[in-house]
Amino acid sequence: MNASQHVCCRLQPFGESVFATWSRLAAEHGAVNLGQGFPDFDGPPEVIEAAHQAMQDGHNQYAPMQGVPVLRTAIAQSAGEQMGLDVNPDTDITVTAGCTEAISAALLGLLNPGDEVIVFEPFYDSYPASIAMAGGVMRPITTRPPHFGIDLDAVRDAVNNRTRAILLNTPHNPTGHVATHDELKGLAAIAHEHDLVVIADEVYDRIVFEGEHRSIASLEGMWERTITLRSMAKTFSMTGWKIGWAIAPPALSAAVRASHQFMTYSIANPLQHGAAVALGLGDSYYVGLHRDYLARRDLLCNALEQVGFGVHRPAGTYFVMCDHTNFGFDGSESFCQHLVEHIGIAAIPPGSFYSNPEDGRDLVRFAFCKTMPVLEEAIRRLSLLA
Ligand code: GLN
Repeated sequence: MNASQHVCCRLQPFGESVFATWSRLAAEHGAVNLGQGFPDFDGPPEVIEAAHQAMQDGHNQYAPMQGVPVLRTAIAQSAGEQMGLDVNPDTDITVTAGCTEAISAALLGLLNPGDEVIVFEPFYDSYPASIAMAGGVMRPITTRPPHFGIDLDAVRDAVNNRTRAILLNTPHNPTGHVATHDELKGLAAIAHEHDLVVIADEVYDRIVFEGEHRSIASLEGMWERTITLRSMAKTFSMTGWKIGWAIAPPALSAAVRASHQFMTYSIANPLQHGAAVALGLGDSYYVGLHRDYLARRDLLCNALEQVGFGVHRPAGTYFVMCDHTNFGFDGSESFCQHLVEHIGIAAIPPGSFYSNPEDGRDLVRFAFCKTMPVLEEAIRRLSLLA
C-alpha cells in the first residue's frame, strides 16, 4: 500500500509541496524558518480592524462571485493608475482565493487538453501542477544565474501550434529577477505574432529594489491578451487571508470566472472589505514596505556573502537564491538537511522548481520576509557554517 495510491495520474508526479516539507522540518528542529515565504509580522492594523468591522456590520454571507464591489473598485483604481489603463471594476476584475487560485482559474478556464504553456524555470511549484490539472502541457525554459534573464530566442523556439499561453512571473520567485523592458517587449511581440495569452503573476510588484516593475499588460496592444494576477499576501503581509485577484479584459475575465465560479464560487466576504481598505492606504505605505524590505535584503545578503555563499542579490521579491557549493555538499537537498539539523536554519532546496531537479543542485533559496531580530538570529547561526 502506498500513500499516494488514490491520487490521480495527473497529480502523481507532484507529491508533497516543498514548502510544507521544509516548514515541518523547521518546526521539528526548532530552526529559524527562512524557507516558506510568509512574513512573521502582521499587516497594517487598520486593515485588520476593517475586516473586524465588516463582520460586525453583517458582511457574513456569500460575496458576489466576482468579488465585492468596494474591493473591485479599489483594485480597478490602483491597478489602473499603476498600469496607465482604464480598468472596469465590473467586467475586468475577479477576486480569487489568493493568487494561487487565480493561476489555476486562469489555466482551467483557458486550456483545452494538450494546449501548451511556456513557463520560466525555476518556477513557483504550483505552476506545473496547475497546468497538469487543467490538462495542459508545460514547456519550461530554464533561466540561469547570475541574472536569470529571459532568453527570447528560447521562447521563440518553444512556440508551436499547440502553444496557448506564456505564464510570466515578474518580479520572479525564486530568482528575484525583474523583467526588463526589452524582455517584456520581446515577449509581447511573440504573443502578438502567435496569438498567445500572457498570464502575468505580479504578486511581488511592490517589492522591487533594482530596476522598475512594469506590467506587460501596459505595453501597447497587450491589455487585450493579458491576465494580470496580484494579491494581498506579499504587498500587505497577509498570506493567511488568501485574497488575490485577476485583472483582464472581459473576454479573458470570462475564462477566469468560468472556472472560479465552480472552484470556490466566492471569497471570504469580510476579508474583501479589509482588502479594499488596504488598497486605499496610498503611496506612503508602499514607501515603508520598500524601505523595510531593502534593509532586510541587504542585512541577510551581506551576511550570506560574508559566510561564503555566492549570493544572487535579488532585484525584487523577498527571496534570495545563493550558490552553496563552497560548503562542499552533494547537492541542495543534503545542504539544506545539514542547515536545518546542525545550523538551525530552514531554507528551500530548489529542485522542485525545475523540470529537471539537477538544474537546482548548486542553489538554495532563503526568504527574508522576517523581522530584524529573527534575521539577526539566523545570521548568528549562519556563522557556524564558516
Ligand atoms: N509563495 C510562497 C513561497 O514561495 C509560499 C507559498 C506556499 O506555501 N504554497 O515560499
